[in-house]
Amino acid sequence: MRELNVIRKRGKPETVKVALAYPSTYEVAVSSLAYQMLYYYINSWREYIAERFNTENLRGHHPSPISIETGTPMKKFDMIVFSVHYEPDYVNILRLLLAAEIPPYAADRKGKPVVIAGGPAVISNPEPMAKFLDVAVIGEIETTMPIILENFLESRDNPQDFLDSLNPTQGFYIPARGTEEKVKMSYAPKLEKRFHPTAQIQPLDREPAWGRGTLVEVSRGCFRGCAFCLEGHIFSYYRERPLKDILEIAVEGSLFNQTKRIITVSLSFFDHSKAKEILGQLIDEGLEVSIPSLRAETLDEEALQLIYEAGQRSLTIA
Ligand code: SF4
Repeated sequence: MRELNVIRKRGKPETVKVALAYPSTYEVAVSSLAYQMLYYYINSWREYIAERFNTENLRGHHPSPISIETGTPMKKFDMIVFSVHYEPDYVNILRLLLAAEIPPYAADRKGKPVVIAGGPAVISNPEPMAKFLDVAVIGEIETTMPIILENFLESRDNPQDFLDSLNPTQGFYIPARGTEEKVKMSYAPKLEKRFHPTAQIQPLDREPAWGRGTLVEVSRGCFRGCAFCLEGHIFSYYRERPLKDILEIAVEGSLFNQTKRIITVSLSFFDHSKAKEILGQLIDEGLEVSIPSLRAETLDEEALQLIYEAGQRSLTIA
């Protein structure tokens, strides 16, 4: 498979190997900004190598999973990190572990390898996976991944010490400790640019779920509190990315990713206090902008004109 911006690190014998798994197809995985953030963030640590895994199929026999980067079997990794966005993908976690001949029950693995899962599905309801996970991350990448990577280095030969070091007040649910502990959701106070990759994996032979483009997170969370909405509840803490950072990520990203298309990531783009300015400046840079979902009451004539000038020809209004 041909891709842009792949990381292939050599590593030393003591380098920690992380299998970064998205339990769905390649096309869905590569469209996830969280998955891309994890990939580049973990690999930014000298002591770690992260290689990617996806499911080859969604039902039936699954072949033994090997990493995209080096073809290394999942079983050879020290840590497996699953990024889980939809509950139906839980079954694919088990399919991948079984196909890799890794005991699916945490009690049978004894932390070798340690299996960690996070993402909206896990944050909202980790309990269906409790027997299978060593760590369920109830929090965001920026506040939880640095702790996981730091603490694992300190106790990599003793998985129990590693699990004991993870605190429920910092967003870590350790199912083996039972359900008595009160786990606090861990939010990033602000959206720091250093966690947002500009160079992103770009498949050259396959089409990502949203098409080719640079993913740019404009804001996170939503303050509107619609009763039916999972994302709006678990990410009710609304944060905006600064205009300057958005423009830098988009412009640099378009060079690294060899595409003029920007795919904005937010729950409601025009809730950003500088939404029109963002669109106007991206248009001035000669970029095409795709806005996945919009709320009807945030649209006016000026917004529609900007969307048109940004090259978008169909709208999803929620
Ligand atoms: S506006 Fe959209 S994202 Fe926000 S809570 Fe309502 S449905 Fe969810």
